[in-house]
Amino acid sequence: MIIVVSETASDAEVESLIHNIEARGVSVKQVQGEERRVFGLVGDVSGIDAESLERGGIVEKVMKVSAPYKLSGRSFHPGDTAVTVAGPGIGSVSVGDGHFLVAAGPCSVESEEQILKIAQDVKRSGAGLLRGGAFKPRSSPYSFQGLGLDGLELLKIASRKTGLGVMTEILSPEHLSDFERDVDVVQIGARNMQNFTLLREVGRLGKPVLLKRGPSSTIDEMLMAADYVLMPGKAQVILCERGIRTFETATRNTLDVSAVPVLKKRSHLPVMVDPSHGTGYWDLVEPMALAAVAAGADGLVIEVHDQPARALCDGQQSITPAVFDGLMQKITRVREALAA
Ligand code: PEP
Ligand code: MN
Repeated sequence: MIIVVSETASDAEVESLIHNIEARGVSVKQVQGEERRVFGLVGDVSGIDAESLERGGIVEKVMKVSAPYKLSGRSFHPGDTAVTVAGPGIGSVSVGDGHFLVAAGPCSVESEEQILKIAQDVKRSGAGLLRGGAFKPRSSPYSFQGLGLDGLELLKIASRKTGLGVMTEILSPEHLSDFERDVDVVQIGARNMQNFTLLREVGRLGKPVLLKRGPSSTIDEMLMAADYVLMPGKAQVILCERGIRTFETATRNTLDVSAVPVLKKRSHLPVMVDPSHGTGYWDLVEPMALAAVAAGADGLVIEVHDQPARALCDGQQSITPAVFDGLMQKITRVREALAA
């Protein structure tokens, strides 16, 4: 529910109105980007009678929001949101509202030498964040599961030496304090997009969160998941399209490029695209990365490995640093063409 306050209402009247609504257990958030005083009501609004609110004279108009998500939706926040990743030693990078960001790195952290070399290479080519899994959600319990806390340490070393912030996936709430200390962007993996306990817990950290679309999730389900993360009022969310499961077997997943303009229409949050998991094959990464940029994505998440054939995870979809460098140049040209 959205309420537009009448121009003649005094500050004291508005304050008392908000107080009365909050007393019913509904939270009231000011909608940004408007000249009029507009508030979004989040929670169970069934006890709030729109007509009697309007009759009181303080509220000019009440609008019902039919979308099942609120905080991530455009009606609560008409302007685009930029998410900024900043910290000591990593400077500041942003994504969304005109800022474009590429996160690149291996599927998993394998060794200090590996992560450092790839971090230096992707940084040189223009990546703004280092990605790399320390805790890996593998379909088979017999596959490499990641280096765990040692992997976080290695990411920290690579971050310190390159100045790149670290984006990495959290699998369990037991590691929240480690991620709070060591990680710049907390990634919620596709398999955990509807792990509501994890979403709430990560939302309390107050860190930027990359929320990946579940392999079988609709766009609205993704936005409802984003609301779980946003609800504690601390986190900033970046949405990530990474392909969905369809009947097609020629690719690992079907990268839903149309999700980009749909998400941008429904939500104010930045949208990144992961063409690596979205296709599953390294030679499809470049065309789909460029398609995502052309469709309006605010950034990309790309798997890069210096020796893909030896990668412990997802080597077949990893591009080499040289291919990544060429891709970054093409991305710049596509963005320039779009801006022209
Ligand atoms: C990853 O980014 O390495 C990953 C496991 O991605 P997803 O959750 O999209 O499968
Ligand atoms: Mn991977």
